[in-house]
Amino acid sequence: MPLTMEGPRVLLRRLRQVMADRADRQTRLDKIVELIATSMNTAVCSVYLKSNEDTLELCATEGLNPSSVHKTTLKIGQGLVGDVALHARPLNLAEAKSHPRFVYLPETGEEAFQSFVGVPILSGGTVIGVLVVQNTSHRSFVDEEIEALQTVAMVLSEMLAAEGQFRAVDENPQGPARLVGYPLTEGLAIGQVVMHEPRVAVESLIAEDMDVEFSRLEAGIYELRRAVDEMLRTEDVSHAGDHLDVLETYRMFANDEGWFSRMREAVRTGLTAEAAVERVQNDIRARLTGQRDVYLQERLHDFEDLSNRLLRVLVGKTLTASAEKLPKNAILVARNMGPAELLDYERQNLRGLVIEEGTASAHVSIVARALGIPTIGRIVNIVNLVTDGQSIVVDADLGVCFLNPSSEVLDSYNERIKLMARRQKQYARLRKQPAVTRDHKKINLAVNAGLMVDVSNMKDSGAEGIGLFRTELQFMISAKLPKAKEQTAFYSRVMDMVGDQPIIFRTVDIGGDKMLPYMRQMQEENPAMGWRAIRIALDRPGLLRIQIRALLNAAQGRDLQIMFPMIAVVDEFLAARDILDKELARLNKSGQTAPKSLKVGAMLEVPSLIWQLDDLLPHLDFVSVGTNDLFQFFFASDRGNPRVGERYDLFSSAPLAMMKHIADTCKRHHKPATICGEYGGRPLEAMALLGLGFSKLSVPPTSVGPVKRMIRSLNLEKLQGLMKNPPPHITLNSRKGFENLAEFLRVKL
Ligand code: PEP
Ligand code: MG
Repeated sequence: MPLTMEGPRVLLRRLRQVMADRADRQTRLDKIVELIATSMNTAVCSVYLKSNEDTLELCATEGLNPSSVHKTTLKIGQGLVGDVALHARPLNLAEAKSHPRFVYLPETGEEAFQSFVGVPILSGGTVIGVLVVQNTSHRSFVDEEIEALQTVAMVLSEMLAAEGQFRAVDENPQGPARLVGYPLTEGLAIGQVVMHEPRVAVESLIAEDMDVEFSRLEAGIYELRRAVDEMLRTEDVSHAGDHLDVLETYRMFANDEGWFSRMREAVRTGLTAEAAVERVQNDIRARLTGQRDVYLQERLHDFEDLSNRLLRVLVGKTLTASAEKLPKNAILVARNMGPAELLDYERQNLRGLVIEEGTASAHVSIVARALGIPTIGRIVNIVNLVTDGQSIVVDADLGVCFLNPSSEVLDSYNERIKLMARRQKQYARLRKQPAVTRDHKKINLAVNAGLMVDVSNMKDSGAEGIGLFRTELQFMISAKLPKAKEQTAFYSRVMDMVGDQPIIFRTVDIGGDKMLPYMRQMQEENPAMGWRAIRIALDRPGLLRIQIRALLNAAQGRDLQIMFPMIAVVDEFLAARDILDKELARLNKSGQTAPKSLKVGAMLEVPSLIWQLDDLLPHLDFVSVGTNDLFQFFFASDRGNPRVGERYDLFSSAPLAMMKHIADTCKRHHKPATICGEYGGRPLEAMALLGLGFSKLSVPPTSVGPVKRMIRSLNLEKLQGLMKNPPPHITLNSRKGFENLAEFLRVKL
């Protein structure tokens, strides 16, 4: 007799009693298979569990030969049971023997059975076993029965997990695991996992009252839809480009009737509303995980996010971990997060960040860099692989993290962290020492900044001012376009903090990889070479005008230095300067206090400008060489793409000749040139640049110590003599070039 709708709920209630028993695991498994066989009126019910990565073991049976328990094993993919495990999908066969995967296992005595139903036992979307029922007759099981079996499989999985005796091999591995992603912000950290969005533990699986659970599910779905609609309506995001697409897709899934009906079905089998959400989430995850298709992977993310949201709605939890006190040495793990969300965390105990998405130029990476938090991105499925409190090592120099690290790994990283701390101490001792070479040549060493926190880092690092203030960062972390007054107040605070030290403000460099969520973006084939920086500023001068006005207002009798990004032709500089001059005239006319002095410069980061320096330099006070973009365009090699970003030798004759030409031309025009790209922040590269004649570097705050140490160990005259005729290294990757240069400069690596 097939199972009635009353059947699964009675079965679940009985299962609950068995689970509450204090009996040992085997006894309970035996009782469970017996109960299922009786309730479903089947001749056989068996439970197979993974005994290792690729093997399933028969662990309990009602109906098969009892002596085969713990003896019969199948490989994943072998036989019908292996097929269910391989595809993480139920298999329902009225005539099992005609299936191509059918294998006959004589020791089990299963030859008598015709029909077969197997459902995967899932934990966190990973298959940990298979639950099977078989019958002697040709019997087609109906959908409701398959649903009921899936629900029973879920309850079984929870029982096994609660005992802690069984965990999926791939999920929450207890043993050490090494996961590879991409380094976003360098550094090392050892600590314990804190989930940014804590996973909701579903505590009660089996419904007391089905009607109540239906209403709870409906109310949860209603609330979820409302929250997604609300998100789309808020002023902050309603004008977004890509952002809006993401939310629209969300809305589409948040209204997916197929998803709802699967959850309703699960409630009908006797689960609570949250257990139903989790069961369907597990099914979807099991089917989509490992899909190579990017579209399907994205859909999985959408469903995961929505399911987690719905779970939080159902259990009344809406907060992220930032609301809680962080444990010591917290390593935050998130699918992704916004920059403001990261700033919500108390800094003191936060040691590292690991995210499933992200690029080096993502907003959250920029903030993480400013805060000095080692960050790894693009670790596939990390959110589902870890649990709160798990031990983790973050090597953001290599982009690798170690879960449950072995004592050897821990020892080696502890050593490296100690070494780093010793170095930091040495650098700290240099803080008050001037950046002067052994032959008494003064080098100007400033920092790159963009957030308030960078400004205090500058003070602590012992640098002499800010050589590049990336004003767009403030725009990027704001929920909406900062108003003129807000900009004035911010620049004024920055100038107050910097005090007597010099600071160079770069006008907003947006576009390309630096998107503002509240500005509609157009799709461009090559955004880095598209409508960005000064190009936007000149086409939409209102934005630049307001920013310049804010900077002039903030300066109030102080020195002010402004530069423009991505200048490709002299006329662009002149047009921008014209806007600045008009704003200055306006300020003077209004009787407001003008800056004590004003210097205006251009970023040199587009190769075409190098061949216009003789025309350009007479019009400006200084240039700042942005090597990040300059080399990207020089080699046509995307700076943000890990496949090509490190491909070319920055020390080969061509780029060195270009840099030398810049240094010589600026010297001839008596115009200072600062290096402000990452190139100048690495001691060996910085050394090469000093050898070519540059004497001003603006580097990330963490580079000040290492670069200053290099400067103080240098005989500049000798170095410049050596660099007069550098050998024509032509190698295919920058690591080799680095070694060649080190050898040439007689530096030990
Ligand atoms: C550069 O391009 O080198 C630079 C300093 O600017 P950004 O990195 O902000 O593009
Ligand atoms: Mg740049």
